[in-house]
Amino acid sequence: MTFATLGLIEPLLRALETLGYQTPTPVQAQAIPAVLAGRDLMAAAQTGTGKTAGFALPLLQLLTMEGPKVAANSARALILCPTRELAEQVHASVAEYAQHLPLTTYAVYGGVSINPQMMKLRKGVDILVATPGRLIDLFRQNALKLNQLQTLVLDEADRMLDLGFSEELANIYRMLPKKRQTLLFSATFSDEIRSLAGQMLNDPLSIEVSPRNVAANTVKQWVVPVDKKRKPELFVHLMRKGRWKQVLVFAKTRNGVDALVDKLQGLGINADGIHGDKPQATRQRALDRFKSSDVQILVATDVAARGLDIEDLPLVVNFDLPIVAEDYIHRIGRTGRAGNTGEAISLVCADEVNMLSAIEMLTRQTLTRKTEPDFEPEHRVPDTDASGQVVKKPKKPKKPKASGGGGGKRNLGKWVDSGDVAPAEPSIKPVRKVPVFNTGPRKKK
Ligand code: AMP
Repeated sequence: MTFATLGLIEPLLRALETLGYQTPTPVQAQAIPAVLAGRDLMAAAQTGTGKTAGFALPLLQLLTMEGPKVAANSARALILCPTRELAEQVHASVAEYAQHLPLTTYAVYGGVSINPQMMKLRKGVDILVATPGRLIDLFRQNALKLNQLQTLVLDEADRMLDLGFSEELANIYRMLPKKRQTLLFSATFSDEIRSLAGQMLNDPLSIEVSPRNVAANTVKQWVVPVDKKRKPELFVHLMRKGRWKQVLVFAKTRNGVDALVDKLQGLGINADGIHGDKPQATRQRALDRFKSSDVQILVATDVAARGLDIEDLPLVVNFDLPIVAEDYIHRIGRTGRAGNTGEAISLVCADEVNMLSAIEMLTRQTLTRKTEPDFEPEHRVPDTDASGQVVKKPKKPKKPKASGGGGGKRNLGKWVDSGDVAPAEPSIKPVRKVPVFNTGPRKKK
């Protein structure tokens, strides 16, 4: 199958040729004809599947072939994204695909001055990429009208809900014309997403592409058990041992990012960090420097790394496991893209066992553990498997009281050590079910 057989017009084919896209990905093969035919779409596809081109190419074609010229302060298509980074990335892709078309594109998001955005919108834009909050601000200030809107795309809809945008989405819904085409993309389909889809979509075609990262054919994943306090030391050790060149590292919190970056820089390692507390310009600079290999190690929180698109990223390290299991899939989706192989290494301490279990349950696989010599944890990470069960550590039998003479190691019972198979000792607690870990949408902080 080629892009031409999907019915795309010549200016788009020319742009794709320049970009080196030869064959449509599965999501593109399914989405492009459906969108061209005017259908609404509900697509289960995560980052790395080629979903952006899946909606952008037919969208550009429809806007070129039909509909009136864009009016002042209007947009003909709106792509909603959860973060500024993703908005920028999506906009960059759309602009590349549209390079031979007479269409205008623009991205708006918060954290930067609204005035230039208002100025830019005066003439109207064919395709507007936006984060929900800023879109509402622009609408309320009459800088943007949506009565000319033909198509709405909700990109990473699950992420928008995770980030607490459900109220904004409800407001935007009220601003939209009734007659429109709507395309919803989401990595996961919770009840909340389904209800959003039920409200926003009209007889949608459902598309599901096998989650590449869950299948994990191209990403080699494993876990290194370690004590929490030794994680920085282990990271540096693995980095030197593996001669890592370009690594994207995920930490759970903003403080965690800063602490690791400080530690690495203190050792003379070329590292930088991005998180939500840093100004947009600083984050963008760090991303650009990482992409151009001026920075070797980029440490990020999940939100800040959203939308990061680096080709051929060989390695992702989870310095901390994510709080929401789905984020694991998003994280490792940064490597092994477009047919390349990648590695994803997670440094896991005993505290994180429930998170590990939730990830294994979600990805339906038991992650291989590789203990690093000299870094064997004192606090053992209990065994887990893809069924979502955690095997509790067997209790160490009490030492019998020394009854005179010798004391020391006598009659210790059958103590089975951490890495071994769980012994059939009565002291072992039965296997217990892990509480469901992914607890729906997080509230905006
Ligand atoms: P996305 O899932 O939209 O974030 O796309 C992931 C990456 O795959 C991006 O770097 C795209 O440029 C690239 N890509 C998308 N479609 C194709 C294709 N058909 N052939 C080659 N690369 C592609």
